Amino acid sequence: MNRLVAILLLATAALAMALASPAPQSADSWHLTSESESLVSNPALRAQIFRALDAAEKAGTDPSISHYKVRAATVITLNDEDHVVLGGNTEYEVPEAIHGESSLLNHVTTLYGPDATRHAVRFVAFFSQRCGLSGSCGDCRDYQHAVTDYQHLLIVCGQSSDHSVRVTRFTDQLADEDKFPIASRDSLPISPAELAQLTQSATEARTGGVTLFTTGRHTGAAGLSYSGKIYRAAGGDDAAFHYRFPIGGLLQQAATERDYFLRAIVVVGERGQWPVINYRDRQYGFESSSFNHEAGKPPITLILADGLGHYRETTFEAALPHAFSTANFLPQAVKDFLKTHPPPATK
Ligand SMILES: [Zn+2]
Repeated sequence: MNRLVAILLLATAALAMALASPAPQSADSWHLTSESESLVSNPALRAQIFRALDAAEKAGTDPSISHYKVRAATVITLNDEDHVVLGGNTEYEVPEAIHGESSLLNHVTTLYGPDATRHAVRFVAFFSQRCGLSGSCGDCRDYQHAVTDYQHLLIVCGQSSDHSVRVTRFTDQLADEDKFPIASRDSLPISPAELAQLTQSATEARTGGVTLFTTGRHTGAAGLSYSGKIYRAAGGDDAAFHYRFPIGGLLQQAATERDYFLRAIVVVGERGQWPVINYRDRQYGFESSSFNHEAGKPPITLILADGLGHYRETTFEAALPHAFSTANFLPQAVKDFLKTHPPPATK
């Protein structure tokens, strides 16, 4: 075989391989969905997003329980230099997890300091098998809300199968307490007497709890179940900074009694102020409300009280937009669980 023929054969083989192999995994092949175009008009930002998606594909993860990889990355510009930062999820034990987006932002802070996280992070990009409509879990919303310039933060999902890139605003995942509709005693789906009882119970709960670090944000919550019982809890902080949330607390008490279906939850904060409902606590409420949905009951009504006789009313579905629960991932498991855990017989 002479040299020219050999080169031609090699070139043909390379071309055949190129034609047979899937689209190259490079920044060139990523493309924004048409709805996303207007959110990323700056070509430099677009290039950074595509570069981050390429990097995110290689982010290390250890989802030993769910086997669901969350691979995140961003590109930040500091002193005219671009830096790629990665994050990935790790799951352990009961189930607990370090989440991908929290891991990513923590890495930015570790490498470049908190100012970089607040001012230089413009987007969080996920490399995913499939881009659904779900946003972050409640806790990651709290974290992103607290440490980034969240009003301008973009959330990117790059789909591995077709390299389409969907971009949304992080603020789409938020619902501020002062936007919850004002309610009156008579418009709520519980009676005025039940409302008074829940408000009193939550107010009393708030006199307890543990507030070694939590000063202005202390809240108490009380929930009424379909069995007519009231469960209540107050926030509790500790040295490890594993804050225990009031809604999560009362839902755990109700679940302990196999009283899985709640009608309404009232939360109170400082007298004269609307209580802050952390997104993590909304996640607990959303998960519980998905049990109601499974059982054909209305969603849990979430009621905020200002202590002066004024109320706001919403649902966890509205308070945690684009949420996910076990009912999304494992619908049959939730059905089977509820079927095998009937409430105790009432006397
Ligand atoms: Zn999360």
